[in-house]
Amino acid sequence: MTKTMKTGAKPKFATYQKTLERKAEEVRNSMSAQKAAQVVARLDIPSDEGDLSQQSHEEWIFLNRNTIDMKLLREISGALHRIETGQYGTCMQCEEPISAKRLDALPWARYCVPCQERIAARIAQGEREEEFEEAGR
Ligand SMILES: [Zn+2]
Repeated sequence: MTKTMKTGAKPKFATYQKTLERKAEEVRNSMSAQKAAQVVARLDIPSDEGDLSQQSHEEWIFLNRNTIDMKLLREISGALHRIETGQYGTCMQCEEPISAKRLDALPWARYCVPCQERIAARIAQGEREEEFEEAGR
């Protein structure tokens, strides 16, 4: 689909780019599959008042799951953008290079391990990541 080759992209990152694009595709597919399953489930649920609480619980799981997928998709597109702008593989906090080992495990990683741990610790102390503020309802 892309007619012009991006000459600036390093071959090393081209692999990550492929991985990220594949992963984004995977998440999108899984999201639409879930959505389809949810619609089918809704049709199958008899309009029995007793099922309401169960249904909203399932809905909550679905929405929550969807929120995580949405967040992941945003992370992936952010990483793809960083590949294009040449910032990929650099910690957004301390600007040190992120280790290849970490990128292999988490190609959309924004921070190096020490920074990520500091951020995780802050979140654990009650400072919430803004993406999680809205739970979808
Ligand atoms: Zn860092």
